[in-house]
Amino acid sequence: MNVCIVGTGYVGLVSAACFAEMGNDVVCVDVNPHIVEMLNKGYVHIFEPGLEELVARNARDGRLRFTTDLAEGLADALCVFVTVGTPSKPDGSCDLIYVHQVAAQIGQAMTSYKIVIDKSTVPVGTADQVREIIAQELRKRGLDLPFDVVSNPEFLKEGDAVNDFMKPDRVIVGTDSERAAKHLEALYAPYARSREKLIMMGVKSAEMTKYAANCMLATKISFINEIANICEMVGADVREVRMGIGSDHRIGYHFIYPGVGYGGSCFPKDVKALINTAKEYGYKPRLIESVDLVNSRQKLMLSNKIKNYFADQGGVKGRTLAMWGLAFKANTDDMREAPSIDIIRDLTAEGMRIRAFDPVAGDKARETFKDNPLVEIFDEQYGALENADALAVVTEWNQFRNPNFTRMKRFLRAPIVFDGRNLYSPSFMSSEGFAYFSIGRRPARP
Ligand code: NAD
Repeated sequence: MNVCIVGTGYVGLVSAACFAEMGNDVVCVDVNPHIVEMLNKGYVHIFEPGLEELVARNARDGRLRFTTDLAEGLADALCVFVTVGTPSKPDGSCDLIYVHQVAAQIGQAMTSYKIVIDKSTVPVGTADQVREIIAQELRKRGLDLPFDVVSNPEFLKEGDAVNDFMKPDRVIVGTDSERAAKHLEALYAPYARSREKLIMMGVKSAEMTKYAANCMLATKISFINEIANICEMVGADVREVRMGIGSDHRIGYHFIYPGVGYGGSCFPKDVKALINTAKEYGYKPRLIESVDLVNSRQKLMLSNKIKNYFADQGGVKGRTLAMWGLAFKANTDDMREAPSIDIIRDLTAEGMRIRAFDPVAGDKARETFKDNPLVEIFDEQYGALENADALAVVTEWNQFRNPNFTRMKRFLRAPIVFDGRNLYSPSFMSSEGFAYFSIGRRPARP
């Protein structure tokens, strides 16, 4: 099938490479000429395990091309996927400017039947808007070409995106057009191999499914974080509590790891967008609002622990904190809404210096913190520890799970660890001579 993907970010590029891998002819369109130039030279601008090889192989075999020209991408395509960003506006609502722009450009350039597929996460009702914008542009051209607008939200996780796309838990297709449904069924057949995995539904239900899924996952995270905070106060260990509740199959173990709050390009904005949608209809979504509030508080739990620890030693001003992990989670270079940003902002506002290391997000972090003279990004994990007053672990990269504790003690000015991901055992840390603070467990001292 001929496929056009508009927007070559995490979702667009992964979808494009995975469609091409199954033999489809894919043209990727992006407005950013720098990204297109890089991709045409064989350089992938985002970090995603397995993606670079997939892009290289399919580009070499001629099934994957990149351009800034939407008309070129549209020319032969039957399916046109919209995978542009949908960021939050300052009031928390979803900014559809890029989706609307693409819809207008499609209406201005199409010359034959197209299936326009919203893969970006967009509020309920967006497909109707996209349909209207395309129809309006066609009217301006005096044309009455047939087209369908479908909702096909994406559920891939950054860090495991290629696997998620290749072996999805489900593929949601929202359409009332039999013609479009038939083509999408064929396109997705190699991925959603059992019939139950392809779930057909109405357009609005498909749009809503994406928000409901992300809000459910965010709720699980805020729930366990709240339980963790109470555990800590009453002297319980949240890791034991997690095992205890997860064994109930109605609850399960997934997504109930306490930490420094959720971040990334999806959960924060999608939770806020659903709150906004509900309010537009006069409904106050109390549970989802609390999920958001609990998360904002959780992002500062670690910096509060650090400030409290140093409070009776003159505070954090002039002190140095080493930080392991900056990306919003492991296996990605994505810094969008990362808890590290809130933690660093909170501590540097009080004069603390930060020496940070991340296995892949270093360059993006340098850009993020370029105006903050108190932040220095290091390329070496142990080098970041040198002469720091303590270490904070913020992202759960595997290489932080079993570090060389002797080396850590040698580099740090004092053996103090604030662990935002509960990577270590409190009893082990105290036996190794560390003062150790984690989430939802009593502090341990040597
Ligand atoms: P991204 O910011 O990584 O990529 C978006 C790309 O779209 C950019 O390269 C940008 O240059 C391009 N773009 C913007 N306007 C354009 C236009 N008019 N024409 C062509 N290209 C244009 O975004 P992303 O993380 O891939 O997310 C895209 C959408 O998918 C969002 O709605 C997001 O919520 C959703 N989503 C993201 C994830 C994820 O893990 N990142 C997962 C599921 C769903």
